[in-house]
Amino acid sequence: MDESSLIDWVFAHDPFLVFALGFIIVHEITFVGGSLFLAAIDYFDLSPESKIQKGKHPDKETIGFWNCLGLLALNHLVFQPLMLPLTYKIAVLRGMKMNLPLPSVLEVITHVAACLFINEALFYWGHRALHHPLLYRRFHKIHHHFHVPVAFSAEYVHPVDNLITTAIPLAAGPLLLGSHMFTFWIITVIRLAEGLDGHSGHDFWWSPFRYFPFRPSAAVHDFHHSANSGNYGGLLLLWDWLCGTDAAYKKFLAKQKTN
Ligand SMILES: [Zn+2]
Ligand SMILES: [Zn+2]
Repeated sequence: MDESSLIDWVFAHDPFLVFALGFIIVHEITFVGGSLFLAAIDYFDLSPESKIQKGKHPDKETIGFWNCLGLLALNHLVFQPLMLPLTYKIAVLRGMKMNLPLPSVLEVITHVAACLFINEALFYWGHRALHHPLLYRRFHKIHHHFHVPVAFSAEYVHPVDNLITTAIPLAAGPLLLGSHMFTFWIITVIRLAEGLDGHSGHDFWWSPFRYFPFRPSAAVHDFHHSANSGNYGGLLLLWDWLCGTDAAYKKFLAKQKTN
């Protein structure tokens, strides 16, 4: 049996398993690998010059190691896998291609760009809604226990928060456009890696996300944690600019310049 017949056989016998396992592997490699890499930089103090809130650390008493690990485990081992059957059902209904051949480079680029815009709109409005007093205390406050964010705090969120700010924005674009599963994986890697970068507590010169339009540096989401005022956007910060919810951040930057 050659390679493509083997892939065809696997898809024919259990396409859901391929969809679910593929997503879990892509997600966990990005999240665990990225978190450990960025945690090592912090632990060994390898990049003090890029630290945004210099000399500050997360409040260990409020957060707690086991509490943190427990919530991450709940999201990764229970909540996220539970959402995969429904996502798969919608993907099948939308005609998502999951087998070879892979999509063309042009299709990948256009779908990734469109999906990131869809993701950003849903993330911004979902996140902004979670800052409404009715929802904040119940679902989003826990994420803001990190006044000084670290990479893994990107997914230190209530499961409802996880659904609103991660799962729905991530899946909506590929499902709406009927993208290939491979494109869905690429979007997942970009969005998760950006989340880790935005919560790393560092403004690395080498971060590829510095070069995305409307997202000058990780300092933007870091400010959302330190000041808890505005900057609701994720990757592109387009909506903060359009809605003026970056006003507090602009004021902060202006004050820093005069000091
Ligand atoms: Zn928030
Ligand atoms: Zn955050």
